[in-house]
Amino acid sequence: MTESDLIVLDQVNKRYGDLHVLRNVSLSVRQGEVVVIIGPSGAGKSTLCRAINRLETIDSGTITVDGTPLPAEGRALAKLRAEVGMVFQSFNLFAHKTVLDNVVLGQVHVLKRSRDAAVAKARELLDRVGIGGQAAKFPAQLSGGQQQRVAIARALAMDPKVILFDEPTSALDPEMVNEVLEVMTSLAREGMTMVVVTHEMGFARRAADRVVFMADGEIVEENTPGDFFGAPNSERAQSFLAKIL
Ligand code: ADP
Ligand code: MG
Repeated sequence: MTESDLIVLDQVNKRYGDLHVLRNVSLSVRQGEVVVIIGPSGAGKSTLCRAINRLETIDSGTITVDGTPLPAEGRALAKLRAEVGMVFQSFNLFAHKTVLDNVVLGQVHVLKRSRDAAVAKARELLDRVGIGGQAAKFPAQLSGGQQQRVAIARALAMDPKVILFDEPTSALDPEMVNEVLEVMTSLAREGMTMVVVTHEMGFARRAADRVVFMADGEIVEENTPGDFFGAPNSERAQSFLAKIL
């Protein structure tokens, strides 16, 4: 571990009954780094993301964020969830709140910002993700791509140290994938620390500093995108890539 490590997982194990879904997973993510996690369905990618945000507990090992072990509950956990933003495949917006309120509420309730300050920040972020004109609408009135951009703005509103993206474009119609990937690519360029689970190999090549390949609960290989796609070390990565490319 070095000073610039923002997230450190050390020998993490997680079981669901007999199913061993994370097997001695050790991974460090540095400040400003973009780590793309790739691997077949069932590999444990979502469980890994959820464990970092403590949406799942782990059975053994340690996870630290910015040097602090994950808190179990209470205010410290709410603070962690603000610092570690999460964007899900299914958007998870508040359906009965406007787009603006979706981006305002966490700022007011968790960060204790004034409503005025939160609204100003929300408007700025909605502009930044290209949907400033939709602020008064409800999520269901937006396209999937627009809803996912609201979810990204909502995560950004908490001034996160890192954002975890779990297959953020998998539920989108194909013509909406790029508008979301473009927002993510610009965040990456601006230096946001990001962990991204995705099947979008173009994005991985373009934006990743490092590719982590997971299968059967294990990190099988970590590599630069150039080496991972050009000459993967492991047979499992080779056969996975042969199927999808
Ligand atoms: P991935 O995101 O790589 O597709 P997941 O982390 O979602 O993989 O799942 C890893 C394994 O754990 C899968 O076999 C999945 O069926 C299982 N799993 C995930 N969540 C649960 C749960 N809440 N209870 C039992 N099994 C689960
Ligand atoms: Mg998953």
